[in-house]
Amino acid sequence: MELVQTAAKKYSDYQEIIDTGTTAQLDYYVNRLRDKKIAMVNATSYGGGVAEILHSMVPLARDMGLDMEWRVIQGADEFYNVTKDMHNCLQGQEGSLSEEAQNIYLKYNELNAAAAKDWHYDYIIIHDPQPAGLIEFLKTKSDARWIWRCHIDTSTPNQEYWSFLYQYISQYDACIFTMEDFVNEKEKFHNLTFITPSIDPLSTKNTPLDEEEVRRIIARFGVDIHRPLISQISRFDPWKDPLGVIDVYKMVKKDFPSVQLALVGSMASDDPEGWDYLYRTLRRAGEDYDIKIITNFNGVSNLEVNAFQTASDVLLQKSLREGFGLTVSEGLWKGTPVIGGNVGGIKYQIEEGVTGYLVDTVEDCAEKVLRILRNPTLAQEMIVAGKERVREHFLITTHLLNYLKLLDSFDGPPVSN
Ligand code: UDP
Repeated sequence: MELVQTAAKKYSDYQEIIDTGTTAQLDYYVNRLRDKKIAMVNATSYGGGVAEILHSMVPLARDMGLDMEWRVIQGADEFYNVTKDMHNCLQGQEGSLSEEAQNIYLKYNELNAAAAKDWHYDYIIIHDPQPAGLIEFLKTKSDARWIWRCHIDTSTPNQEYWSFLYQYISQYDACIFTMEDFVNEKEKFHNLTFITPSIDPLSTKNTPLDEEEVRRIIARFGVDIHRPLISQISRFDPWKDPLGVIDVYKMVKKDFPSVQLALVGSMASDDPEGWDYLYRTLRRAGEDYDIKIITNFNGVSNLEVNAFQTASDVLLQKSLREGFGLTVSEGLWKGTPVIGGNVGGIKYQIEEGVTGYLVDTVEDCAEKVLRILRNPTLAQEMIVAGKERVREHFLITTHLLNYLKLLDSFDGPPVSN
């Protein structure tokens, strides 16, 4: 199983960002776990939120003195087709799990387990369903504590898929979910733990940019830097409600004619639904040239996302349904006021009226945008509170600390097969 190489990170660079309480706790747990070997295992080293987090967390942990490694399982199309369906069905999609699909899933987990038979880890943290079956073939051969880390919303899963997966995840010593709302059958887990995802304050997407550079970047996309800007950074997906965002903008524009809107989203070339929704969004925008609809196909990458999040007067994340909604923390961290849909993980990040606003309707959202645009002092207070909330709960350092606390908490014998 391939060992992933990561670019170096320095813990010392994070010291001036995190609070002293977090530093003290990190130092304490790093010291306690210094002699332990920890493995992170997932299905891919590139693409998607899990890989992004591990690219920051693993080198950071290593620089702190922890022996943490990251391994990815090997697969082939037939395996990834099964695990893609599994991913969707665990999030509630209808579908049936054939015997053939079960065999493919187990075949690749067994093959990967064979490649891992000489592992000597104290803690093995398995991310998401793809490698969850490894435990079936390895647990009896290792003294490690096995932890399953679920990044998806399994609150209303397809029962056929859930029962299949449960055979394996029930063998783990602990299971981590992002939020309580994402778990069904809570009573059936050993050491059920909740850990939210995080942002890396020193990644290209989040590191502070020079004002001149920010202006230069957004001007390149046709934004007038002298007029107010509302943005939403999101995939073009019905649950992210880009059409609702355009309706909000149109309402705001009646009272605040100088306002502009940017909808910034990444497109995958193999995601027809995303393209369909982009076209619907373009149609809703019509010929209003103050609406900028921008994608990776016009050159948006992490730096540009950073610039839009930094330059906007208000950021929206007007989701109708949401997993965690990392864009909220990204915006708050940059000191930009954020208005979010009153759903999913957005509710964890935005404390109504304190670190931003939570909204249920277009009208409510438009009213809150106007309130922020007209009242910069109010926005200033929310900015300070929002950034502190992210510092305390949603940075990569706190994320790592939460893992270490869990690893250190095990006592008694491991869960037996
Ligand atoms: N993002 C990006 N480019 C875009 C749009 C989004 O890099 O054009 C990033 C965004 O900054 C965030 C992630 O994609 O880090 C989206 O995560 P979130 O949890 O908000 O939503 P998801 O897409 O996972 O439902």
